[in-house]
Amino acid sequence: MSSPMSGSPFDPWLTADPEVRSLLAAEVDRQSTTLQLIASENFTSTAVLAATGSVLTNKYAEGYPGRRYYGGNQVIDEVEDLARDRLKALFGAEHANVQPHAGSNANLAAYQALLQPGDTVLAMRLDHGGHLTHGSPASITSKVWNFVSYGVSAATDDPDKPGEIIDFDQVADLARTHRPKLIVAGSTAYSRIIDPLPFREIADSVDAKFLYDAAHPAGLIAGGVHPSPVGVADVVTFTTHKTLRGPRGGAIVCASEYAKAIDGAIFPGLQGGPLENVIAAKAVAFAEAARPEFAAYSAQVVANAKALAASVAAEGVRLVSGGTENHQVLCDLRSFDAELTGKEAQEVLDRAGITCNRNTIPDDPRSPFITSGLRLGTAALTTTGMGPAEMARIGALLGRTLRERADEAAVASIRAEVRELCAGFPPYPDLAGA
Ligand SMILES: *Cc1c(COP(=O)(O)O)cnc(C)c1O
Repeated sequence: MSSPMSGSPFDPWLTADPEVRSLLAAEVDRQSTTLQLIASENFTSTAVLAATGSVLTNKYAEGYPGRRYYGGNQVIDEVEDLARDRLKALFGAEHANVQPHAGSNANLAAYQALLQPGDTVLAMRLDHGGHLTHGSPASITSKVWNFVSYGVSAATDDPDKPGEIIDFDQVADLARTHRPKLIVAGSTAYSRIIDPLPFREIADSVDAKFLYDAAHPAGLIAGGVHPSPVGVADVVTFTTHKTLRGPRGGAIVCASEYAKAIDGAIFPGLQGGPLENVIAAKAVAFAEAARPEFAAYSAQVVANAKALAASVAAEGVRLVSGGTENHQVLCDLRSFDAELTGKEAQEVLDRAGITCNRNTIPDDPRSPFITSGLRLGTAALTTTGMGPAEMARIGALLGRTLRERADEAAVASIRAEVRELCAGFPPYPDLAGA
């Protein structure tokens, strides 16, 4: 008699809580039978899952290795040192902090370390791809610091110069006008390489510090397919769960001169006890990201994004910035169907088993809740072994779903095709359900 797998390497022990076990099993089923195209998601290794689900969750370890506030941290210190050493080696960084519970916390700590309350920060506009922590009115960041925003250039009809890329003239102008103390590079919805060098030059020209938020491309940087901001930016923050394929969390690397300020900003500035189970899982992921297979994976993520972009463009969807150089494909649905909103597209794609998120496009006429765009990402499906042929098939399925969105029978038949496609690429073949 087989029972559904729970998604935990420690599945047998979860029989003690059948309610939670069955919810985890339902989520394994969802992750295994639908297409995960959310650009900020990935599938960790089972080793990362195992470390996350370990006894290290029991330990209080406020402070840092060798400087803890509680006893019993001999092993924990080794775990955190291992994670820090592996991270420093991965990016060639002088200092690493692996304690941020999330990318947002990493950014808050960087601001705290580099700024005084009220200081001016120049960061990317949210509706052009920036993150909530880059000064959204809804975020604490905008209440503590004074944010000024740069955006992308206007779209053009020229296929060789499609526009919608970061406008460095505007960054330089705003820097001269507002004299920010900090310039932030990084985005949550932008399909191009973000070169750290022009930001560094502009920051130097106005005597500003430079923070590179690598939340999305961290894995592509580790894999050597995007330029590294380490050693260029003063501080680099990132998440460990997006392209880097580790556990959900954040991390910071910086030059030694900022080490004390960054560490103090995370603890006691922002957080209490670190999640040492997650830190162990980060250590596992950092070692995985240092292997040659990860460089091949990163290159494949980008190749798959290019294939997916070509196939959705063939369906009549306009690509924001005309294409992609990373793991993301930003779709403007207005060219496909002027009536179709991002919200409606996301909902019908969900019913077809194609999981993605609606997204604003630059200068979107619709609200951030409705939107005119979709954001797709290839980091997770590439982990399962899918390649350009599958991406072409997914683009076609996406086009069909959107065209036939009013026909529930058609959507159900696409759902069945998606299920069959996913069956060939199980994300967790090692988690036996017996
Ligand atoms: C995802 C993201 C973050 C925050 O990550 P969380 O772990 O969700 O807090 C920060 N900055 C950018 C640019 C991101 O895309």
